Amino acid sequence: MSHHAVPRPTLRSQFVRGLLRLAASRGLRGIHYSVGIDATILSPAMPADTAPVPGAGELTAGQLSKLHRRITGWFAETARDLPWREESCSPWGVLVSEVMLQQTPVVRVLPVWREWLERWPTPSGLAGEPAGEAVRSWGRLGYPRRALRLHAAAAAIVSDHGGKVPDNYTELLALPGVGSYTAAAVAAFAFGRRETVVDTNIRRVHARLISGVALPSPSLNAAEMRLAAELLPDDVGTSVRWNAAVMELGALVCTARAPKCAACPVRDSCAWLAAGEPPPSYLPKGQAWHGTDRQVRGAVMAVLRLADTPVPPEMFQQEPADLGFAADGIGVPLAALHRLNSAPEQLERALAGLLGDGLAEQHLGGYRLPA
Ligand code: SF4
Repeated sequence: MSHHAVPRPTLRSQFVRGLLRLAASRGLRGIHYSVGIDATILSPAMPADTAPVPGAGELTAGQLSKLHRRITGWFAETARDLPWREESCSPWGVLVSEVMLQQTPVVRVLPVWREWLERWPTPSGLAGEPAGEAVRSWGRLGYPRRALRLHAAAAAIVSDHGGKVPDNYTELLALPGVGSYTAAAVAAFAFGRRETVVDTNIRRVHARLISGVALPSPSLNAAEMRLAAELLPDDVGTSVRWNAAVMELGALVCTARAPKCAACPVRDSCAWLAAGEPPPSYLPKGQAWHGTDRQVRGAVMAVLRLADTPVPPEMFQQEPADLGFAADGIGVPLAALHRLNSAPEQLERALAGLLGDGLAEQHLGGYRLPA
């Protein structure tokens, strides 16, 4: 910067100026707000599906091993080069990737995963910082409760496992915030164990290839788990490659909306193609976003990630320019939040939900990331 240049206002000074204007605009009325509403955000219960799933028992041993060969062979040739698949990736790196990849596409995960591993190459690095730092560094990956879960898992790895990610399904599953999918995936991909790994992509491939239906049932059921276990190769090394390969096939070829069957290595064995590509028996729920409470929560989180002092609730509702914020720094997420034009009760629900989930806390009359 030349010595003639006027220093740009820091984030903190911008923020403090905004707070002062806000206080001035309130005159002597003081801070008053209420978020005392019940805003627990629940995902709607999925209907149970008890329909039988055609099993791998209907395949001969020869057919099954042909599937194994074809799909793992395809994977060996076409798999994407991803850093968490490299030999040198630590179990911690695999665990972080598995949590980030749930509900977020690879392309968005990659930069955040790299930042995390650079900043916190071991669980103790993350455990040594406040949970709010994990949430702040989660960026825009969405579903930020996952950052809290990773932080809690890191703390337990340090306190109960000497800072080393445990190497088996049972101990992984016992970590806070680690569910059966993540435990199986980390045991398989970080430690080379034979585990039945079942994610959305794998379920979809099994549903089409073996069961001949367009989509798996809305929620994972016991019959699907049995089918996945039956399909898993006996050989340990092959089972690890199989899990990764079927997942990749679902992500790249047997995709949800438009499967690329012409490029599929097992199209001649596919039960869904053989059945004439029957349509799904239900319409998958779209991931509505615009106008939802989730969108407002995301916008509030974007403000909190940039704020370095607690944000008074009124600030969430005012035009940032009126508070003296420039169109950069924290003014950007504040303006984005303002553009949503949310009803006050929706904003209250969002704030209460963030408090309830431990993603935000109240401090000195405002909101901040957990300390
Ligand atoms: S042929 Fe098509 S539907 Fe069948 S498994 Fe391959 S990509 Fe999926």
